[in-house]
Amino acid sequence: MRVLITGGAGFIGSHLCDRLLAEGHSVIAMDNLITGSVDNIAHLAGHERFRFIKQDVTEYIFIEGPLDAVMHFASPASPRSYLELPIQTLKVGALGTHKTLGLARAKQARYFLASTSEVYGDPQVHPQPESYWGHVNPIGPRGVYDEAKRFAESMVMAYHRFHHLDTRIVRIFNTYGPRMALDDGRVVPNFVGQALRHQPLTVYGDGQQTRSFTYVDDLVDGVYRLLLSEEHEPTNIGNPVELTILQFANLVNTLTDNPGGIVFEDARTADDPQIRRPDIGKARRLLGWEPQVPVEEGLRRTIGWFQKRMGV
Ligand code: UDP
Repeated sequence: MRVLITGGAGFIGSHLCDRLLAEGHSVIAMDNLITGSVDNIAHLAGHERFRFIKQDVTEYIFIEGPLDAVMHFASPASPRSYLELPIQTLKVGALGTHKTLGLARAKQARYFLASTSEVYGDPQVHPQPESYWGHVNPIGPRGVYDEAKRFAESMVMAYHRFHHLDTRIVRIFNTYGPRMALDDGRVVPNFVGQALRHQPLTVYGDGQQTRSFTYVDDLVDGVYRLLLSEEHEPTNIGNPVELTILQFANLVNTLTDNPGGIVFEDARTADDPQIRRPDIGKARRLLGWEPQVPVEEGLRRTIGWFQKRMGV
C-alpha cells in the first residue's frame, strides 16, 4: 500500500510510519511540526519507501500519484498543547478531517481516523464501551479537543454513509513510550522526567483519578489490525489495566529508585476525567487484539529512552 499519515512526525504517527514501512508499505508522512518533531523520523531519512512533507493539513492537500490509505493522526494531543493551541486543535479535527477525507475520496483510498477516549469525556459509564455516547462539556477547557474529535467521527461516518468511503475509526486511550515530547505536560513525561532528575513527582489533586496506560507498540499493532479489518464503526484500543495516578507515581518512583517522593498539587482542571478504562471486548473479538506489554515493562523501556534523551 501507499499510505499518507498525517501527524507522521508525532509520537504515535512516527511509530506508525515505522510499522507500515516494516510491513513493506510506502509511507508519506505529513506534519506541520507544531507539536511533532523531525527528530521522531530522522532515522527514516533516505529510506526509499519514505517521504516527508511539511504541511498544515487544514490547507488543501495535493499528493501526486495513487494512495491506498489516508491515516489522519495529526492533532495536538496532550492537554497542555491543546490548551495552548485551541484554535489549531479545533481546525485540525474539523477542517483537517474534511481535507483528508476529500483526498481519500479523490484517490479512492481507505480512510483511518485517530479518535480518542476523550470522546467519552468525564465518563459516567465504567469501563467505557464503544456504545457509550460520552459526557463532554463543549465549552470546558478540554472541549476544543473532545468536540473536534467528536465532529471528526461524525464527518467520517457521513463520508462512509453518503459517499461510501471505506473508513475506520480508532478510539485511542492513554498511550506512552519512546518519543513522547519531554515537555508535553502529560503524566508519563512529567513523572519520568521528574524521577530521573530525582525530584518529587507532581500528583494533581488527590491522585485518586485513574488512567489505563497502553504501550505504543501495542497501540500501533491494534491500529494496524483495524486498518486491515472491515470494521467501520469506532473501536477502542487501550490497555484495560487501570491504575490511580497515585499508584502510577509510586510505580515510577520504584522503577527509577527516585528518592524525591511525591508532592500533591492543585487538580488540573475542572473536567479532568476522574476515571478511564477501555472496554476492549470488541477489539478482542474483531481483531484478536489485546495488549502484550505489561505497564512495568513498557515503563522500563520508556525510562531507558528518556535517560538517553536527557543524557542521565
Ligand atoms: N497528572 C498528574 N501530574 C502530572 C501530569 C498529569 O497528576 O504531572 C494527572 C492528570 O491530572 C490526569 C492524569 O495524570 O488526571 C493523566 O494526565 P495526562 O495529561 O497524561 O492525560 P489525560 O489522560 O488527562 O489526557
